[in-house]
Amino acid sequence: MSPRPPGSRLVAGNWKLYKTNDEAQALARALLDKLAPGCDVVLCPPFTALAELHYLLAGTKIGLGGQNLFWEEEGAYTGEVSGAMLRSAGCSHVIVGHSERRQMFGETDATVAKKTRAALDAGLTPIVCVGETLEEREGNRTAEVVTRQFERGPATIAGPDAARIVLAYEPVWAIGTGRNATPQQAAEVHALLRSRARAAWGDASDRLRILYGGSVKPDNAAALFAEPELDGALVGGASLKPETFLPIVEAACF
Ligand code: PEP
Repeated sequence: MSPRPPGSRLVAGNWKLYKTNDEAQALARALLDKLAPGCDVVLCPPFTALAELHYLLAGTKIGLGGQNLFWEEEGAYTGEVSGAMLRSAGCSHVIVGHSERRQMFGETDATVAKKTRAALDAGLTPIVCVGETLEEREGNRTAEVVTRQFERGPATIAGPDAARIVLAYEPVWAIGTGRNATPQQAAEVHALLRSRARAAWGDASDRLRILYGGSVKPDNAAALFAEPELDGALVGGASLKPETFLPIVEAACF
């Protein structure tokens, strides 16, 4: 069971490949107008909108995150962005190992480990994603897959740094499909991850936050957050409109 009260949850909005700068500004302004976060809220826009949002969110309670980073600090790596660059653009968080990056951009458990290390070294909080495909779930391999992703990825971080990691359980079959895991399915995997984290990190896992991600919507948020294993959510599609994101934040934080 999670020892955390709702006020210590985290809700992160993953804007993916959506929002030009004008659109990003309009969405952030609309959220700022209405959002009275009772817990941590982080917006992860595309890189191009980070500066815009940094300016808008400065002095507010809403944090800013990147959707990805590269593990090198600098060099001839066309198209990549480092942790220090994200920090300088105002980020406090960064998503690492999202399943869309694993599936479409060749990310592996090994690159997830390197990116997690780089994020921590840059002073960012990595939100490290794990999750099984539909085939893996139907083959009863969920525990094996998420354990492997955890062990080869974030669990490679030792010592007190591990206490700064956030995990996100994102079953691939639930992302962008409208089909969410049940609270019980999510809780089962969260409990497994929590026990693996304790084995890997000991007391550094005491305050570990494990988010659920996968078609979190206003109409399923209350049921999901009634489950105390959920320390928050990583929200994709529903984070793109105030009318769908705000009720989720409300359900999570209070
Ligand atoms: C995500 O992008 O991490 C995600 C969970 O997307 P969606 O909420 O759209 O399923």
